Order: sequence, then structure tokens, then C-alpha cells
Amino acid sequence: MAIAEHEETCLAKPREVGVYERSPMFRMACRQLELAAEHIDIDPGVLERLKLPKRAVLVSIPIRMDSDGRTENFIGYRVQHSLTSGPSKGGLRYHPSVDLGEVAALAMFMSWKCGIMNLPFGGAKGGIACDPEYMTIGEKERLTRRFTEEVLAVIGPRKDVMAPDLGTDEQTMAWIMDTYSMKVGYCCPEIVTGKPVELGGCVGRRQATGRGMVYCIMEALKELKIEPGTATVAIQGFGNVGSVVAKELFDRGLKIIAIGDRTGAIYNKNGFDVDDVLRHVTRDRLVRYPKGEVISQAELLECSCTVLVPAAIERVITEENASRLKCRLLAEAANGPTTPEADEILNNSDIYIIPDIIGNAGGVTVSYFEWVQDLQQWMWTEEQINRQLEELMLRAFHKIRKQARERQLSMRMAALTLGIEKAAREKERRGLFP
Ligand code: NAD
Repeated sequence: MAIAEHEETCLAKPREVGVYERSPMFRMACRQLELAAEHIDIDPGVLERLKLPKRAVLVSIPIRMDSDGRTENFIGYRVQHSLTSGPSKGGLRYHPSVDLGEVAALAMFMSWKCGIMNLPFGGAKGGIACDPEYMTIGEKERLTRRFTEEVLAVIGPRKDVMAPDLGTDEQTMAWIMDTYSMKVGYCCPEIVTGKPVELGGCVGRRQATGRGMVYCIMEALKELKIEPGTATVAIQGFGNVGSVVAKELFDRGLKIIAIGDRTGAIYNKNGFDVDDVLRHVTRDRLVRYPKGEVISQAELLECSCTVLVPAAIERVITEENASRLKCRLLAEAANGPTTPEADEILNNSDIYIIPDIIGNAGGVTVSYFEWVQDLQQWMWTEEQINRQLEELMLRAFHKIRKQARERQLSMRMAALTLGIEKAAREKERRGLFP
């Protein structure tokens, strides 16, 4: 369906739907769902339901600011796309651009991701529109604790389990766990995943998203018959996910030639010593790293490399720049980095795409391991975690390759059809209540 035509159908819907559809990200998620639905047998009622979240909660979060003692109000969201196959699961992001539609789209992606990985979860996502870069630790703690209090009625180990995402980390999860535990009156580590290991967190969870991405990249390079030692890599985003992808690929002998974050990007055609860059960013901004040339974000995305890894924010590969990409493999670690218009262009090129819903599924997979361990109070070793992660990632990766080959679909469509089909079958088997 043409985009203009699609937008017309969106506009014709009731106002409640429009609340989500004002967001380009949500329209992008709906469009992907509709395109994938053309390749699977899906009940039209179920399809309509899958376009909408089951529940969306919007809260105001007043907190006292440290700088001048004034009270500032932030808006927070928790959106649960599906609870059909278990609790809903998904990250909590702190970023200035967070809005209801974006969070609803990300919750939908999580449902497909859990479907592909065969995890007993539905998708969810949360977010607060704020800029954590410019907040004190005390402000972030008060924001997190008050948000937890505001969404208390809809979260729980069997209802909805949060994890870190853009702008949040292990400490954020520790505050949520503590706030929830104080409210229910007992220690409840299973309320969140991605928390510190001392509090029941899972060894290897922090690295899991990046590691899962790396397992897929190495498998794709094998298929493309590219020797890792000859491959060059450009990475946008040097946070939790991007820095782990950089380190793991560097350790496997790939040359990391470009790295970017929100402060800018750097380039070195001979490759960076990633350990040295990691040490540098603990003290100073990435762009001030002395052994690299400063380049723009556009130059990073369009540089000539074997593997391009967007690992920062969504919608960075668009209709405008897609035809200028010069990578052989596009490994999507961020959620939604490629717009559907860009996807059409890339599908007509020889770029091999590892789509986000499998590329970054390592995070939710190890979150599942963490949840299971907390419920059973039985912790696994990092070796067990990594072995199981690799096994599940590669199983899903090859299932998608097979689907793509057999049904003549792009990797993205193959992944989406598998994830959506699983979510749709579960709804159909449970039936419509009442
Ligand atoms: P993070 O906050 O740890 O790091 C984000 C990085 O992106 C930082 O280096 C930041 O400087 C950079 N960045 C932010 N805005 C940018 C911009 N406008 N241009 C260039 N760089 C920018 O976040 P993260 O946890 O690494 O998440 C990164 C992406 O991976 C997000 O899309 C997130 O949804 C996705 N993801 C994360 C996880 C996880 O386990 N953390 C799991 C699945 C998916």
C-alpha cells in the first residue's frame, strides 16, 4: 500500500487510534504489520487488535529539581501491547523525544521479538520524556521512584516486567525494584530485569543485547563468505549496546573504523583500539578521542565499511540517505533504525539486513533467563547464560533465514511474519473474552 494511501486510512480511524497514529514511529509499526499480514493467514479481527496496545498508561511525574528547588513535571508512559502468552516485557527509556506513539510502537516490536524468540511474554515498553544527560543522580532517582509508584497498579512479576533501554541502566532497575519491594512488603527481584547482579541480576545481562547482535553478525559473515579479519565496522551509538558490539567484534579481529554517539562521530581507517576508546569515554567525550578524525553522523552512516551497526536511536536510515549506504551488512541493534521507505530502497540493493527484531533480541532473551532465575531463586553461571543465548539466537536466526528462502521474503519480512504469526495464533487459540 502506498504511504499516502495508508496515512489516509489511518486518518479515517476514530480519535482514540489517532492518539497513537500521530507518531511516525507508530505509523511505521502499523505499516510493517500490515505488510507482513499479507504473507500470513490471519483473522482480520485479530489483525486490527494487534495494531493497538492492550493498555496504555500516561502519568504525570512531579519532582523537585536540585538546581533551584523548583518542581518540574515530566510525562511518563507504560504501554502493554499484549498479555496473551504471559506477562508483558519491555524496556523503560529516558529520552527527550519519548511520546505515546513511539512507546506504543516499541511495545508492538517487543511482541514480535518475544514471538520469534519463543519467550512466554507479550510486548511492552515505557518511557519518560526527559534528558537524563542533564539530570542529577538524585533527580533521576526521584523520577524513577515516582514513576514506579504511578504505574504500580499495572506492573508486577506476572503482569509486566521492565528492563533498561535508552537512557536507563542497572541503577534505574535497582530503584524500581526497591520501590516496588517497599510497596508490596517483601523483596521482589523478579519485578525487573537488567538489575545489578548483587540484587538478583543475571550475569551477562548488560552485555546480552550486544552479544546477541554479534552472534548474528558472525553467522551472516560466514554466509557471505567474508573473513572476519578483513571486515571493517562502523557503529552509531556507544552506550550499552553499541560499546559491547564494538568490544566483542574488536576481540574477534574485526576492524572498528567509525564510532559515533550523541556528541559526534570519529573515524580511523586503520581501526580503533576499542579498549582504549572505552577507557577514554569514562573520562571525556567520545569526539575528543585523540586517535581519530571527527566526522559527521551522516558521514558515519554513509562510510564505506563491511558492517554498519546503528545502535542509538530510531529512524536514522531514511528514504533520503538509504541509497548512499556503502556497507555490505546492515546489522540493526537499535529499535526501528530503518524507515519502511528506506527498506524498499535497501531491498533493491545487495545489502544484507539483520533486522532489529532479531538483531537486538539478545537483551530480552537474557532478561527471560533472569526472570526465570529470580522466580526459582536459582542462579546460572555466565557460561551457561552465554551458551543458551547463542543457541537461542542462532536457532531464531536460521528459522528466519529458512522462512526468507522458502517464502521469497526479505529478512525483515521473514522475521516479522514469524513473530506476528505466533502472536496471532495465541490470540486465536485463547478466543475472544467474554
Ligand atoms: P544507551 O543510552 O546506553 O546508549 C545510547 C547511545 O546512543 C549513546 O552512545 C548515545 O550517545 C547515542 N545517541 C543518542 N542519541 C543519539 C543521536 N541523536 N545520534 C547519535 N547517537 C545518539 O542505550 P542502549 O541501551 O545502548 O540502547 C541503544 C538502542 O538499542 C536503542 O534503540 C534501544 O531501544 C535498543 N535496545 C537496547 C537494549 C538494551 O538491552 N539496552 C535491548 C534492545 C534494544
